Parts: sequence; C-alpha cells; structure tokens
Amino acid sequence: MQDWLRQQLAERRAADLYRQRRTLRGAQQPEVDVEGRQLLAFCSNDYLGLANHPDVKSAFVRAADTYGVGSGASHLVCGHSHEHHALEDELAAFTGRDRALLFSTGYMANTGVINALVGKGDAVFEDKLNHASLLDGGLSSGAKFQRFLHSDVAQLARKLDATAAAKKLVVVDGVFSMDGDLAPLDVIAPECANKRAWLMVDDAHGLGVLGKTGAGCAEHFALDQQQLPVLMGTFGKAFGTFGAFVAGSDDLIETLIQLTRTYIYTTALPPAVAAATRASLKLIQTETWRREALHARIAQFRSGARQLGLQLMDSDTAIQPILLGDAGRALAWSEKLAELGLWVGAIRPPTVPAGSARLRVTLSAAHTEIQVRQLLDGLASVERELGS
Ligand code: PMP
Repeated sequence: MQDWLRQQLAERRAADLYRQRRTLRGAQQPEVDVEGRQLLAFCSNDYLGLANHPDVKSAFVRAADTYGVGSGASHLVCGHSHEHHALEDELAAFTGRDRALLFSTGYMANTGVINALVGKGDAVFEDKLNHASLLDGGLSSGAKFQRFLHSDVAQLARKLDATAAAKKLVVVDGVFSMDGDLAPLDVIAPECANKRAWLMVDDAHGLGVLGKTGAGCAEHFALDQQQLPVLMGTFGKAFGTFGAFVAGSDDLIETLIQLTRTYIYTTALPPAVAAATRASLKLIQTETWRREALHARIAQFRSGARQLGLQLMDSDTAIQPILLGDAGRALAWSEKLAELGLWVGAIRPPTVPAGSARLRVTLSAAHTEIQVRQLLDGLASVERELGS
C-alpha cells in the first residue's frame, strides 16, 4: 500500500495534476491573507459578497446563542429546528415551489435525490459536463446511466426515444460549474415533457445570480414546478453560507423525506447556518444592486479579456474560464499571477476534459472595478511573458 501511495503522488506531480490546498486567515473577501501573503482572489464562489456580510454574521451569532452549535441529530430524529423549517418555507416561496427540503451539502443532495428517485429498471440521462456529484448519483443509482454530449438536446432526445425504462430522469447543471454556460433549459424542459421524462436541475451557480429576483435558472427561463419538477440549489456559493436544498411538489418532498438516505442518515445542519442562510436569502431578494454590480464586473472582465485576445467561453455568469489547453500551462499561468498578487485557480483534468485545462476566474459583487482592472493588467503581463 505504501508503495502505491507514493506512486500515485509521483504520477500526479509528473503530470502537473497535483492538487494543493492553501491556508487562509480571515474571511472570504476579495483581499485575502494566504499563508502570510496578501492576494486578490478571483476564485471564490461567494458571488454576491455575502459570506462576510454583517447581517448574515449577526443572524448566525444570534442563532448560535439560542440554539447552541450542533443540531444534535438528524432531521427525522430530533434535529429539525424552527430555523430549518422557516428556511424551507422561505426557499419554497423564493423558488415558486410547494416545498423545499434542506440537505447538509449539495454533494449529498445530488447523490441522495437521484438514488431516491431512480433505481434498477429506470434510466438516468446526464450531460457529460455535469458536476461530479450528479454523475456519482447517476452511477450509483442502479438505473441505466446514459450520458449525452454537452447540451446536445437532439442526442438526448434520441436516447430518450430509445429507452424502454419505467422511469426516466434527465439531470443537468443549470450553470455548468467549470464552463459557466447555461443548460438550454428552454429546449430541454419541453423535450422532457414530450418524452415523459422528469427533469432535475442543479442550480448551484445560478441561484442568486440569474433571474430578476435571483431565483436562478428556473426564473431566467420561466420554468414552473411542472416543467422543472426537481430543483436543487446550494448555499455555499451566492448565499455565502453552507448546505443545500431541493424544491418541488409536496409529493416530491414527502417522498424524499421517506427515501433519501443522505437525508435520513445524517446530522442536520447547525440551526445557526440555517438562520444565517435566511438572512442571506433576504439580502439576495432585497439588495438587487449586488446582482447588478456582479453583472457589471462580468461585462468589464469579458470586454477586457477579449481585447487581450484571451480564449473565453460562452458564459455570461460569474464563472469566466480562460482556456489554456495544457495542464502545465494552466499551472504556470496561475503561478505567475500569484507572483503578481492575484489568485486564480488552475483547473485541470479530471475536473475538466483532457486538453481543456483552464484558469477559472470567478467574479463577485464584492470586487471593485479597480480590482477587475488589476486582474486584467496581471493577465496582460502574464500573456506577454508566457504567450497565450
Ligand atoms: N453542484 C455543483 C454544480 C457544484 O459546483 C457543487 C460545489 N462545487 C456542488 C453541487 C456541491 O455542493 P456542496 O459544496 O454544497 O457539496
């Protein structure tokens, strides 16, 4: 075993695929202290700048005072508090669904819900670029697992036609986490309805960012509960907190409570996290200027990066990848940027397909125009040095 471990590590290093953590001191915000160095970060998913918001923090502290820290048990035993319940009601109203159900993480929501909804004799259809948790859910469900080419609805339709499965579940990201583009839900949803398949969308990166009120891709494409029956979202991104939820019909939520192993057999989120998330949900809806600021920064970045001739992707969301191709190149760009005080993560296989390594720039309402200008200046200087 020891030899195998060493060999794994050596192979990853040799292929420029070694993953490393960096230790932060202080809150999530554009300027962070990373191992004693001040860096300007463009890699956080705190898209609206709420992770360090005073209202969110004070809601957390107040609830910790009332409820303590741990929830003590799973939701079905004795861990379901008033804060959890109120957050579920507010999320249902926010997303225009009958009900919502909290999960401890998005990873658990995705794997658990897919496993609860389909099994042997059923079929699950997933976009090739879906998040790992959705793919893991599909693979472990026992249903026939079929992937279709990224956003290729014609291929999905052919696969749906060819199946004789009892139940059909189509699963996609609303916003793809490494590309930033939107799933064509305006075409996928009617296709699912025609073919009597259920649609599940993971809107981790769309909630708070898309739609007039920030209700995400369902609002952006005006898809109601019938057209998009299983809507999943996370709190670790635009909400700035932690955890996840699934929203849908009363029957869906009741069934998930009965069947979902990652709901039943795990400790509920701390009530203070639910309270903090309630505060951020309020800010998402009321402080609309945050969404406007984020979209202004996105437009500024895209126009500047285009002028530099960098290879962007078809994304109008907070996720703005710069395609570099080779893993070594992506790593070299990321390291050079760090020398200039800029923190942008290099995303390499297997997170993205081989040959499509990239810098994953993420923007936030918390970034100023000057900070985005600093990033563009840094990119220009690295491009001069390393070539694009
Ligand atoms: N879905 C998507 C699209 C994600 O990007 C992530 C987080 N990286 C998750 C699910 C998992 O959510 P969590 O971090 O809450 O487990």
